Amino acid sequence: MPKPSPISPTVDFDRDGVQHGFLRLPYSRDDSAWGSVMIPICVVRNGDGPTALLSGANHGDEYEGPLALYELARTLEPGQVSGTVIIVPAMNYPAFRAGTRTSPIDKGNMNRSFPGRPDGTATQKIADYFQRELLPRADLVFDFHSGGRTLDFLPYCAAHILPDKAQEAKAFAAVEAFAAPFSMKMREIDAVGMYDTAAEEMGKVFVTTELGGGGTARAETVRIARSGIANVLRHAGILDGVVGKARTRWLDMPSDDCFTFAEDDGLFETMVDLGEEVREGMVIARIHSTGRTGVAPHEVRAKMSGLLVARHFPGLVKAGDCMCVLAQQA
Ligand code: CA
Repeated sequence: MPKPSPISPTVDFDRDGVQHGFLRLPYSRDDSAWGSVMIPICVVRNGDGPTALLSGANHGDEYEGPLALYELARTLEPGQVSGTVIIVPAMNYPAFRAGTRTSPIDKGNMNRSFPGRPDGTATQKIADYFQRELLPRADLVFDFHSGGRTLDFLPYCAAHILPDKAQEAKAFAAVEAFAAPFSMKMREIDAVGMYDTAAEEMGKVFVTTELGGGGTARAETVRIARSGIANVLRHAGILDGVVGKARTRWLDMPSDDCFTFAEDDGLFETMVDLGEEVREGMVIARIHSTGRTGVAPHEVRAKMSGLLVARHFPGLVKAGDCMCVLAQQA
């Protein structure tokens, strides 16, 4: 028998109406002997129907998701809904409060912590609660991401290429409904432990985004997040109203050649901006040595032709950092 989760919800997932509450995670510490982490959650239910599970701040320094989801939780009314919408605007709440990718409690990266553990660290306990309590309730799982403090992305909604083509088609249809400027058939560097993988292995329709980054949100990317999530809920038949049609440009990531990692420390210079076309072999970035003058920069060349969809964000890079991501017209 697996252990029960230590997390207790203050909301009833089967009750009609709007509830604003918490997932309460006991966390005993120096400044609060019998204290808890209170993760905000909103449930909007109106009778039987599909369930959407929406989350932001899986990584704590990504802001379009929380900005869209706190707003949706504040404004969504049961009369607009058929079924259930579960909203967790800040999934790794300790990380979100700290403004960091990982949790300040245990350094846990939520998106590498699945399936989690009921007797593990704080981050593993949250992952376990999603894995065993929330994901099984959901038909549609939507997890917002952006680049955080160390990446910046062209705004896109995304789903993965999957072995189950019927499941994949449903996910791509939801991506199309989101109608971000770009839509991505996404490849992962390392899918082990991801929330995405946990949801997909359960057969759920899983959709995500990369909507910008740099540790903040822009007006345009927040607008995309808000209109996109409403469109996806309408597309799923959960929210009333018609899906707003907008043109989206489909991209895919055909091989690992889309990723470029720094092989030196230094001063990062991007030679192309997000959305610009590059050709294979072209210099797309340079890394300048900073320890002395008179040293030629290290040139980074595109391993394939395509569009620059992500770049390292702050001005300095370290060896191993993801510097550039390319994608091709699908
Ligand atoms: Ca992320």
